[in-house]
Amino acid sequence: MIDLVAATHNKGKLAEFAYMLGKKYRIHPVSDFDGGVEPEENGGSFEANAVIKAKAAFNASGLPSFGDDSGLCVDALGGAPGVYSSRYAENAKARNAKLLAALSETPESDRTARFVCCIAFFDGKREFVVRGECKGRILFKETGENGFGYDPVFFSDDLGKPFGDATPAEKDAVSHRGRAVALLGARLAEIYGKDEEK
Ligand code: IMP
Repeated sequence: MIDLVAATHNKGKLAEFAYMLGKKYRIHPVSDFDGGVEPEENGGSFEANAVIKAKAAFNASGLPSFGDDSGLCVDALGGAPGVYSSRYAENAKARNAKLLAALSETPESDRTARFVCCIAFFDGKREFVVRGECKGRILFKETGENGFGYDPVFFSDDLGKPFGDATPAEKDAVSHRGRAVALLGARLAEIYGKDEEK
């Protein structure tokens, strides 16, 4: 087994990473090493923030580490909320309401958007970043019961339906995070080999 540290304090994400990367890797939460102190995400891009998190996790643990940063980019808003997605408003309901209000005059054809997830890896020598994207558009009102965050206002081009109406498995198959983790897995296989058990 290869030990890796995930620079997240979110248990759901940790389980998702472990499941998607497979049995070859033992994924430790960075909270095992950093005492819960999170680095400031002041990088200005998803890539830069992911690198900040991966390097902080490596510095705390001394183990190969990866960090992720994600958010929603809306074309009509010049890519906003982008890296400020989690800080766009106080909570998910307020964030979605603010987004729908900002686009109240924007016609269907101009409501294109994408979820982005960047994952950076750092082991003291090697450094790389992978990027997964998921395209769609912003709905005119919250739709469906599933998902979290901005999911209720996002229509997925891949699925041909709102993320709010998608099952978790449907969303995982096309999501920005799923795509970024698949790319990470491929790069890790180049470093550590492809065999299941090591
Ligand atoms: P982070 O990846 O935890 O930093 O998330 C940044 C922000 O983007 C949060 O406000 C999330 O709600 C939002 N976000 C990231 N991924 C998704 C997603 O798959 N669906 C809905 N919102 C997301």
